[in-house]
This record gives sequence, C-alpha cells and structure tokens, in this order.
Amino acid sequence: MKPVKFFNSLGRRLQEFEPLEPAHVGLYTCGPTVYDRIHIGNLRTFIFEDILRRTLRFFGYRVTQAMNLTDVEDKIIAAALEAEVDIDAFTAPHVESFFEDLAALRVERVEHYPRATEHVAEMIAMIERLLAAGYAYRADDSVFFRIAADHDYGKLSGIDLDQVRRGQRVQSDEYGKQDARDFVLWKGAKEGEPEWPSPWGPGRPGWHIECSAMSQKYLGKTFDIHCGGVDNLFPHHENEIAQSESANCCPLARYWLHSEHLTVDGEKMSKSLGNCYTLGDLLDRGLPARSIRYLLASVHYRQQLDFTFDKLAEAGRALKRIDDMRFRLAHEAEKDGDSASLDLAADDFENAFAAALADDLNTAAALGAVFTFVHAVNGFIDHGLPHGARARVQAALDRADQVLAVLDAGEWAGSPEAGGGLSDAEIDALVEARSDARASRNFAAADRIRDQLSEAGVVVEDTPDGSRWKRA
Ligand code: AMP
Ligand code: ZN
Repeated sequence: MKPVKFFNSLGRRLQEFEPLEPAHVGLYTCGPTVYDRIHIGNLRTFIFEDILRRTLRFFGYRVTQAMNLTDVEDKIIAAALEAEVDIDAFTAPHVESFFEDLAALRVERVEHYPRATEHVAEMIAMIERLLAAGYAYRADDSVFFRIAADHDYGKLSGIDLDQVRRGQRVQSDEYGKQDARDFVLWKGAKEGEPEWPSPWGPGRPGWHIECSAMSQKYLGKTFDIHCGGVDNLFPHHENEIAQSESANCCPLARYWLHSEHLTVDGEKMSKSLGNCYTLGDLLDRGLPARSIRYLLASVHYRQQLDFTFDKLAEAGRALKRIDDMRFRLAHEAEKDGDSASLDLAADDFENAFAAALADDLNTAAALGAVFTFVHAVNGFIDHGLPHGARARVQAALDRADQVLAVLDAGEWAGSPEAGGGLSDAEIDALVEARSDARASRNFAAADRIRDQLSEAGVVVEDTPDGSRWKRA
C-alpha cells in the first residue's frame, strides 16, 4: 500500500496516514442540518469527503463512514413551529433533497446516516458519564460542559480562551452557565418545543453532543479520520473532542481534515446577496451536473474555491477535451504502432495520478495528470494507435475515475441535466413502488410504472433476488 499523507488540523502538519486497523478506515463526516435545501458550499465539502473516501479505497483501504443528519436544532424548531408542523414533517423534504443532490453529483452513499433524533439515548448516556466525572454540571433544567475542567481544551483550534471569555454574549436560555465559555450538553424543555425524557427532566440535546455520541456508536471511541468544513473546526469539533475525550479517556479521532469554503464571485455566499445557489438553481439554468462535480472537485480542498459561471463553462470545456479523445480512441483502428511508449505514457499517468492523491488529496494535480495523458493519447491517435492501446487507455482512465467520477460521459447519461431524466434516487423509489405493486398483485399499476421507467430510458430486470435496473 502506498504511503498517503494528509494535512492533520490536529497539530497542523502534513502526516503519513496509518489507520488503527490494517487496511480499514473509520471515517466520520459532519453532515447537514436538514433545515433547508443544501447549497453548493455544503456540496463542495461533501464532494471533498467523497473524494477522500474513494481515494482511501483506491489505495486499498476498506472504509466505514458515518455522516450524521442534524434533524433537531434551534433553526429547525423555530421554522417547524412557524409552519405548524412537527420537526419530522418539517425535515423530511430536506432529507430527501439532500440525498437527491448527492446522487445527482455521484456522491457515493456511505455506510451510516445516523439521525440525531434517533440517538438521544446514546447522548444522554454520554452526558451522564461527563456529569459523573465532574466535566459537566446541572444548572436550571440544563446541563453544561465545564471547560475549566478540561485541561487540553483548545488543542485543535489553538483558541485563546481568554479572548472567548471576554467577547461572548450569553443566550437567554443559557443564563445558568457558571462560565461564559461553557457550552450546553442538554437544554431543558420549553413550551411548544420537541422534548425527550432524561434524568434531568424533559429537554433536548445540544448540537455538539450528537456527533460525539453517534461517532462512538458507529465507529468506536477512537477512530481514524474526522472531517468537516473549516467553520466546523471551532467550536463544534473542539467541543466534540472535549466531550468524547473527557467521557472516554482516549483520543476521539487521529486525523482531522477540514475543507476550505466555497465563495461565489469572490464573496461569501449569503441569501441577502442573492448568491447562495443550490444544485437545483444551477440545474434549472441547464448547467450540467457533471461540470458542477468537476469544478467542485478540481481545486485542492484546503484552498478556497471561488465559484463563477465562467469557471463552470471552463469545466465543461475541459470535460469535452476528455470526451473528444475518448470518441477518437473508440473509432480509430489499432495498427502496429509503438506500444511500448504507449504503455510508458499510461504508467506515467497512473503513477502521477496516484502520487497527486497521496499528497494530501491534490485533486488539481491529479487532473493535471489526466490532461497530460489525454494530450499524449491524442498524439498516438495522430501518429498511429498501437494494438491494445484502447484497452490500456480505458483501463487507466477507469481506475482514475473510481476516484474522480467525472471522466466517463456514459456514466452521466440520464443525469438531471439531460432534461426529463430521472435521478438514481427517483428510479430506486419507482422500482421499489413497482415491486410493492407486484407483491400486492396490482399488475396494472406495476406495468404503468414499468412504462414510465422505460420512457425515461431505464430497463428493469426481475431476478430471483428482486428487481434491478440499468440505464438503457
Ligand atoms: P451545515 O449544514 O451548515 O452544518 O453544513 C454542512 C457541511 O457543509 C459542514 O461540513 C460545513 O462545514 C460545510 N459548509 C458550510 N458552508 C460551506 C461553504 N460555504 N463552503 C464549503 N463548505 C461549507
Ligand atoms: Zn459534527
């Protein structure tokens, strides 16, 4: 296995990656607050995490990943109250659009998507351990984490706690805090808000405790890699470390990777500036999902990515260079060309590609290697394509595309930008609805769904193990 280096925010240095278990990586990535449709900034972070996951597999690791869904939180509660629905009804469409957006950009589904509302018992258990060990205290109906009890608090962010103490405003529901720096683990219930029973009376968990409790449940007390966008580093990840390490007396995660933010036209995205785009906003303008994934993946994750429509158009042109070469390759006859030098070019490409990824996930350099190879293959096509060239080039590109997931136009056929196409999630839902209809012997409904799928270019095959589908 090739040595892979990552920039570890914990210690702020480039470090060779070694997992706890041989060939297996436990990965935790902070997921969305399902309050609204996610924006392209969130998607930049989720694509970085997808590339990380795929890169680990490319280097031979098996990955177990958990990404939480924050489905209870102040903004969600306020919006659900205003809409006069319960929080589950409020968050449901945002959970659905989150998975649709990921599928549209070919972000792989991970092993676990734990929801905060389904893990309150685990959070209560961890808070009890913190209380018993003196790291937490009760005040009014709430429980707070006592930062003064945690001697290495701040080790991730290097925060100066005296600065925090001076500037901070205490929220009205946190008056009971003994120290302005302390943070809430459990909030006592308020009239009209969702609540869960606990040893301290009814209430709900704070935000930070959810990731500590859920990462432990799915990945263990210590796991390999923890990720998020830079805004998560302080206070969220610092507080996760404080909670988990105080409760468990062992390190939480060994490597912390943070992606820089996406800006739009040089400015921070914000609703008031009108520059806060969702994937839907871009697809509605007819912009291809494939170009969006390419652009979001093309800048190194530790550099800010400034989104512009010009860059998206440039991404489309870059992809066309790849497609044009692949088209020529597919239609050019193989002859007695110089196959040794073609093999060399393919080896050079594969080595440069792997070296770029092993160097802290340098996707920009990895794409650079792709284009050097595209240029070289065009040269072979111009001067005579040797026997076996097609298979060799395709195999090299396919291996690279296990990580990038943008190099093969065929894989994007029927993606949302094609117009009238169904997303994978929509097809899954229709295939499942058809199976249900067949199981209840409603064959007319089942046939209607099959027709709808076939119009969208989807072929359904019924096998003894159930129905499966492919795009025609
Ligand atoms: P949230 O739903 O706000 O908790 O965000 C989900 C993920 O998106 C977190 O990892 C955030 O750090 C990340 N994120 C939020 N805004 C941006 C942005 N403008 N650019 C990149 N990542 C972001
Ligand atoms: Zn988190």
